[in-house]
Amino acid sequence: MARYLGSKCRICRREATKLFLKGEKCYSDKCAIENRGYPPGQHGQRRRKVSDYGVHLREKQKIKKTYGLLEKQFRNYFKKAESMRGVTGENLLVMLERRLDNVVYRMGMASSRTEARQVVSHRQIMVNDRMVNVPSYLVKPGDKIAVTTKAKEHLRIKSAIESALQRSIPAWVEVDAQALTGVFQNLPERSDLPSDFNENLIVELYSK
Ligand code: SF4
Repeated sequence: MARYLGSKCRICRREATKLFLKGEKCYSDKCAIENRGYPPGQHGQRRRKVSDYGVHLREKQKIKKTYGLLEKQFRNYFKKAESMRGVTGENLLVMLERRLDNVVYRMGMASSRTEARQVVSHRQIMVNDRMVNVPSYLVKPGDKIAVTTKAKEHLRIKSAIESALQRSIPAWVEVDAQALTGVFQNLPERSDLPSDFNENLIVELYSK
């Protein structure tokens, strides 16, 4: 599968917000947004007028890049969200939160979603006692997530969970840091999810 291999901090600078793509660095004073909070490139520091389309596009890119998705995958999630009952934008965000790589990240078993994806695809995660190596697997309320016995020795998983606990774990997941297990307790409410995401702009963009 195609992957973006460029600088992750560049993505944050393009979207002018912290997307937390690089683990611990994002919480340190080395964060590029803190030091160079203007768009990347030669003309990054010029003031630019953003069109209405540009505003919609940037919002879509921001959410898509936060979850580390490519355009086609993101559009497929949108189509699914549209066909579900309820509010399309909220359905979309909740579905993205249910991705196994995201749940592993939310539980603190990895310091970023990219690392979580690697942990999952390297067969280090079990869902309800069965190994699952598909990052896009959709977790359901009540599902138990666990680090495999072999991977429990990995220092990066232990240190990631310790750091996450210091910062606080979201209310919709429960984590046992000693056993390296967690439960996806319930679907997050819209109010639990980042308030700087404006999913309505995505609905408008794809409806044009
Ligand atoms: Fe974004 Fe993290 Fe880089 Fe800061 S350190 S710019 S939050 S990826």
